[in-house]
Amino acid sequence: MEKPKTKNCKTCRQDKSVEDFHNQKASKDGRQNNCKKCANQLRRDWAKNNREKENNRMREYYKNNPEKLSEKNKKYFEKNPNYHKDYYHRVRKNKNSH
Ligand SMILES: [Zn+2]
Repeated sequence: MEKPKTKNCKTCRQDKSVEDFHNQKASKDGRQNNCKKCANQLRRDWAKNNREKENNRMREYYKNNPEKLSEKNKKYFEKNPNYHKDYYHRVRKNKNSH
């Protein structure tokens, strides 16, 4: 039985070559339902929507594990001296926006 060579993207509703879809072993035809372009866009959107959530999660984590923060910061901030400033600026801004 020959496999179909095109697949309809769930997101943009376009028929595209199966080559335009990422592999997904778990799915029936071995490809994701979204084409690569849409998958990238969805991932970007997801990251955008979850960045704050992720930041909060990390803040909580470091609040509960301050020794890890200082350990990690020491090394990281030595290489990225400006990040420190930006990070706390962002944290303050997020807090005020509530
Ligand atoms: Zn698509």
